[in-house]
Amino acid sequence: MDRYQTIRDVVNQVVRPALGDRAPEFDVYAIAHATYKYATYKNADGTENAGAAGFETTLSANEFWDVVAENALSRHARECSCSNPSCQD
Ligand SMILES: [Zn+2]
Repeated sequence: MDRYQTIRDVVNQVVRPALGDRAPEFDVYAIAHATYKYATYKNADGTENAGAAGFETTLSANEFWDVVAENALSRHARECSCSNPSCQD
């Protein structure tokens, strides 16, 4: 299983490449956090195996794309710097 040391690695090595040119239309960090969880492992003697820890996913490709669809940015979030609370299209 692929394992990444930081959530930034997940964003840059998994989420952005998957989205390609459409990456700016999505909340890539929200997608990374929703799809990859930090896993830790213990050695046989019960101590933490620091070398084995990292962000991993248990989701299928279909489930990954479901999360992507839930994290599309609104036009307001992508292009607008206004502070009008009604501007959320
Ligand atoms: Zn706006």
